[in-house]
Amino acid sequence: MSCFDPLKFRQQFPLLQKTVNEKPLIYFDNGATTQKPQCVLDAYQDYYSSSNANVHRASHVLSARATRAFEEARQVVKSFINAASSKEIIWTKGTTEGINLIAASWGESQLKAGDEIVLSYSEHHANIVPWQLVAEKTGAVIKILPLCDNGTLDDSELTGIITAKTKVVACAHISNVIGRINPLEKIISRAKAVGAITVVDGAQAIAHLPLDVQTLDCDFYLFSAHKMFGPTGVGVLYGRLALLEQMPPYQGGGEMIQTVSFAGTRFNELPFKFEAGTPNIAGIIAFAEAVRFLKQYQRQAFRDYEQALITYMMAKLEKIHGIRFIVAEAPDIPVFSFTLDGHHNHDIATALDSRGIAIRSGHHCAMPLMEFLKLSGCLRLSLAPYNTFAEIDAVIEVLTSLVRGEG
Ligand code: PLP
Repeated sequence: MSCFDPLKFRQQFPLLQKTVNEKPLIYFDNGATTQKPQCVLDAYQDYYSSSNANVHRASHVLSARATRAFEEARQVVKSFINAASSKEIIWTKGTTEGINLIAASWGESQLKAGDEIVLSYSEHHANIVPWQLVAEKTGAVIKILPLCDNGTLDDSELTGIITAKTKVVACAHISNVIGRINPLEKIISRAKAVGAITVVDGAQAIAHLPLDVQTLDCDFYLFSAHKMFGPTGVGVLYGRLALLEQMPPYQGGGEMIQTVSFAGTRFNELPFKFEAGTPNIAGIIAFAEAVRFLKQYQRQAFRDYEQALITYMMAKLEKIHGIRFIVAEAPDIPVFSFTLDGHHNHDIATALDSRGIAIRSGHHCAMPLMEFLKLSGCLRLSLAPYNTFAEIDAVIEVLTSLVRGEG
């Protein structure tokens, strides 16, 4: 932990130096999106002020410059997640678009009536609705993996639910409400044993855990730049080359073709086959900067600091009268979900906001999980390595006074 200085890290984020409702901002909504460091903001601005041109199309200098930075960004992401080839890195708008792409392209071309898609109760809507849409079109059936008391997927149920009928298993690496690491190795190995493909929603994990897609051995892994200090509107679909080769395009248009004729169109090679239209060039270049920024730090140093934040926060939260955690055990990443007896989630979130504290209340885009837990919603505090123990103290003080009716 010694080599990581959270205050120095924090200084690089301009918005964290601001006030909200005339109070210093305490930003505990990092599960929704993280703040952006100055270097990412600069990279975004710099693209528009010095290289703005469309990629892959023209022979002029600006286009060559933009294309170089754009394709370098793909290499940066490839090495960040240890993909075997840059052809396996497809740019998307975010995790949601990535899952829709797989469900539409792979799902509609491969699934038939009676095939089974296995999801879990703790999935984000982004990893449920695209599969419902494809199930509706193909006649495939959705099966649900239950959860253990500790909130992770129940691996004792794997053999009963993932069977010869299963064609796809899609689950989160870490749920955005529960914050615990799911037993992916066991799930992936069971899926492989029955010949099903695996789709991992990495939206919450990517900012917290190192990722090696070759070791994990999943078929697809999705994440969003904005949850790891990058811009909104950019995401990554990692896909195993052999599967991507077989899949039909998701959208048609410029860039994804080699030749177009009314006699027939030939599609481009990977990764361009899945990148129709002008991409978010500035966002992708700025995202590469976010990855470089992250890579300056040792992931273990982040993890150690986050672990210290988790231990500190849990000890403080446990003392709040009437708190009910969504799961009793401490989370693996600093995401804390709970309700407070006798208080509406929304009232608490609004009261905190009036003191400059940003948290989340509601169903967190996980309505089936709320149904499973018999809750209408909950509060969620989600932290990043720029958050501090002093901020935790400040939030706990306000929460305690609100619970005592002093708010
Ligand atoms: N999956 C999980 C687990 C998430 O937490 C989120 C966003 O909160 C998403 C998917 C969707 O991500 P995006 O809105 O960036 O597409």
